Amino acid sequence: MSTRIQLEDIQAARERIAPYIIPLQITESPSLSKQFSSNILLAHEYLQTTGAFKLRGAMNSVLQLEPGTTGVTAVSTGNHGRALAYSAQQAGVPCIICMSELVPRNKLEAIRTLGAETRIIGKSQDEAEVEARRLVSEEGYTMIPPFDHAQVIAGQGTLGLEMLDQEPDMDTVLVQLSGGGLISGIALAIKSQKPEVRIVGISMERGCAMAASQKAGKPIEVEELPTLADSLGGGIGLDNQLTFDIVHDTVDEIVLLSETEIADGIRHAYFKEQVILEGGGAVGIAALLAGKVTPGAKTIVLLSGKNIDMELHHKIINGEGH
Ligand SMILES: *Cc1c(COP(=O)(O)O)cnc(C)c1O
Repeated sequence: MSTRIQLEDIQAARERIAPYIIPLQITESPSLSKQFSSNILLAHEYLQTTGAFKLRGAMNSVLQLEPGTTGVTAVSTGNHGRALAYSAQQAGVPCIICMSELVPRNKLEAIRTLGAETRIIGKSQDEAEVEARRLVSEEGYTMIPPFDHAQVIAGQGTLGLEMLDQEPDMDTVLVQLSGGGLISGIALAIKSQKPEVRIVGISMERGCAMAASQKAGKPIEVEELPTLADSLGGGIGLDNQLTFDIVHDTVDEIVLLSETEIADGIRHAYFKEQVILEGGGAVGIAALLAGKVTPGAKTIVLLSGKNIDMELHHKIINGEGH
């Protein structure tokens, strides 16, 4: 097991971020428990401020900036960008989120509402990335990446500690998998105390770079395709430092889902659990419904985020398109 992030780092993160974090709520799903004749628990992390777990890692990083740092920056208008903007605002640290001209207006507004400065550069993510690097090299900003970063991973790992505290006899955890910061943190937190707990990573068939990389034995790139689970898109970095190895060492299974299966997860969450989830947030439920994961005696299904375009959600609920 990777020794670069220790249980103590995750425990320290938990204390550090506690004043800013909504504790994890776990409830039983009567409908899933009945359907699978086992105990299935939902972990409602979409209730987190900014609508996703990414606040934990971002907050843990912002609270440990080197003295003399001008501020923080990132190239993300998704859940990481929101989380970093909010964390910086809470800590009173300047934050610039760099993005391309193609970013939709509502995403830009969401970041601005959270108090961050937005810098719109060029027509691609790559050009925005160049500006973020310039802020680092010329203006003393610190770049906080979305997953391949020890403080981010330790922050996400606090979820694993909360799960274990509340449900010490859980035997299976279903966790979203994209860059792998979330599952790395959770797996390290849980397996360093209870190595027998099974950790299942769940992603989409359309462009899961981590799954393809694990299969290849090294970080590789895959084509990015549009998916309902948009927060699970993107590469893992060809120079991946941490999450490729941690996922290799700690994740027991990786399951990939079709778009129809993901839509079924969103619909189940809405009609049976009365919860609005984004595609990425719903993949744990979707994997169970698709029969791609056999639940244990006590399974925790992480619901990681809710930031979906509500017009899209409406269409999915009405069975249009998926
Ligand atoms: C980022 C994100 C994930 C995946 O997290 P990784 O650390 O990249 O694996 C899952 N769900 C939601 C809602 C996210 O925003």
